[in-house]
Amino acid sequence: MSLTTVHTVADLRATVAAWRAEGLRVALVPTMGALHDGHISLTKLAREHADRVIVSIFVNPTQFGPTEDFSAYPRTLPDDQKLLDAAGVALCFAPSVDEMYPEGFATKVSVDGAMTNVLCGAARPGHFDGVAQIVTKLLLQSLPDCAIFGQKDYQQLMVIRRFCDDLNIPVDIIGAKILREKDGLAMSSRNRYLSVTERTIAPSLNRVLAEITAKAATGAELGPLLAKGRQDILAAGFDPIDYLEVRDALTLELVGQTVTKPARIFVAAHLGKARLIDNHAITPANIAG
Ligand code: AMP
Repeated sequence: MSLTTVHTVADLRATVAAWRAEGLRVALVPTMGALHDGHISLTKLAREHADRVIVSIFVNPTQFGPTEDFSAYPRTLPDDQKLLDAAGVALCFAPSVDEMYPEGFATKVSVDGAMTNVLCGAARPGHFDGVAQIVTKLLLQSLPDCAIFGQKDYQQLMVIRRFCDDLNIPVDIIGAKILREKDGLAMSSRNRYLSVTERTIAPSLNRVLAEITAKAATGAELGPLLAKGRQDILAAGFDPIDYLEVRDALTLELVGQTVTKPARIFVAAHLGKARLIDNHAITPANIAG
């Protein structure tokens, strides 16, 4: 079976309806394109949960701030289609902005509270409203059995779980682990912005997180660990750091002095034109294994 690409909601729905008539299970993997192996790992996980996989490719304007990289964001549909075809994906849904936001469009989806006004929510006002709006639309357009999202965007995954629960959207939300380059850099479409020199600096972000994670898991105090981590990230060449924080893995509330429950360390920092994000799970040694 080779890849089919559709550009309209009507064609997406017609394809899904035909699969449903055959009794097939359907998975959706939402992306903004410029695909890499991280995205492909999501399609493989999707394939384990469904008979047919849809990958949506849409650079969603409503989740970008006015000074962010919406126009510059890489758009590589022909290359993306080749990768999806090779990965056994059945359908690529690549709508235009007008298809998703036709004239007269007026509806917002907004998730309140601690989960959206910290980390990337604080650094990128309105970002998660845009994410909630587009993911709600994609889920309702395709009505899949499940949808796969990467832990690379851990806060996004938690926000999506929240509004799917709140709005009773009957789709199983599945989280996928972060895929990294051999040197530890988390794969990202935005890594394309890095110069050759910046690309050699970029893996230090993961190294700093790994160091803090190992020490925090054995009960070390977070204050000094985070202070040293910030110094190391700046010394490597990142500037500025949007955040370097340890938060509860479920509620995203700030963790106090030491980690006693499953937590997560989150970082966002700028390197040249790129804003890179990463995170690691911190499992306290007393509850590990
Ligand atoms: P994006 O195209 O950046 O919006 O990402 C689309 C999906 O792929 C999101 O669910 C991301 O969390 C996920 N993703 C991006 N990079 C990675 C990675 N390195 N490992 C796993 N998932 C990823």
